Amino acid sequence: MTALFIKDKEFHDFVAALVGATPVYAPVAKRSLFAFERLVSADALRLDYDVTILPPKKLFFPPAQELLKFTGGKFTASVHPEEKVLFGVHFYDVKAIDQTDQLFAEKNYDVNYMAHRQATTIVASNIQKVSRRAFFGTVGQEVHPKGHDAYLTKIGTGYVFETFTPKGEALTKHGNFEPATDTQRAEVVKVNAAVLEQCPEKLTHKSAEIATKVRQAFKNEELWRECAVDCFSCGTCNTVCPTCYCFDVQDTWNVDQKSGSRTRYWDACLTESFATISAGGGHVENFREERGERFRHRIMRKASYLNPKLGGPACVGCGRCSSQCTADIADPVRIINKIMAL
Ligand code: SF4
Ligand code: SF4
Repeated sequence: MTALFIKDKEFHDFVAALVGATPVYAPVAKRSLFAFERLVSADALRLDYDVTILPPKKLFFPPAQELLKFTGGKFTASVHPEEKVLFGVHFYDVKAIDQTDQLFAEKNYDVNYMAHRQATTIVASNIQKVSRRAFFGTVGQEVHPKGHDAYLTKIGTGYVFETFTPKGEALTKHGNFEPATDTQRAEVVKVNAAVLEQCPEKLTHKSAEIATKVRQAFKNEELWRECAVDCFSCGTCNTVCPTCYCFDVQDTWNVDQKSGSRTRYWDACLTESFATISAGGGHVENFREERGERFRHRIMRKASYLNPKLGGPACVGCGRCSSQCTADIADPVRIINKIMAL
């Protein structure tokens, strides 16, 4: 690992050089909100963002992704990943990307996701502003972010740029960096630790205790019915979540009835039709028909089911689901703390 320092007044030139050399995706303003988009100039970069509308997973696993075209029995791959830099990712989203990497690499290795992922250099950045529903300071503390190539931290009069891989190291040729001093490196540790204390929401218990008690609440039908009473089944809490990865695959046929394309779309387990399956003979069965059942399934996935595989919860505390649920019922902190107090 190398730790370098770049002064504020040189940082703009570094980003401009990067944008000139390679496609860069980074947080930019979208009216009063923020989104990861292709950076057209260094001026558009907003490292002071709180949270983005959608997580950066959309670059590897887009909401709609054409996988292949077919004609007769011939198939042609449609995924052509571009080499790019994903710049300014907060650590909770780095953790989520690492989880998705793990889940898409096991069993049926997902070549389409992995092709995009491997073509990407990830530069994480410290959180300069905490979003209003974040709780990353108290969730999954036993799991640390990994998989990023570099980490940028704003301190005093500039930025410390730590590199962890050759891909991260290669970016430093675009800027006027100098070795970071011990004082600057100590400041990085302080800045990144301090932000953990600034989350407006907090879980009251550790992951292992939560996983056990949430699992024990499975049969509490009344609890789940109450939690979901105002749920529209819109699926927003799934689609904005950096750790959700369910998808549906659909074929579209052209009028010649020989050729077409295969596309995958994000799916959402809170929607009514998610668990509807064919029962044969033209019949269907929905094995999670009730809103409460779907609501429970999401919380089980986030707080309990995946913990043994991931080493911690499948929730990174970004607060996107809490702030984007119209009914304001999706907040994992409120639900989990309520269960822990039963
Ligand atoms: S919990 Fe909220 S965001 Fe999720 S499906 Fe229900 S209404 Fe939509
Ligand atoms: S469950 Fe909510 S808070 Fe947790 S990672 Fe998903 S969107 Fe973020």
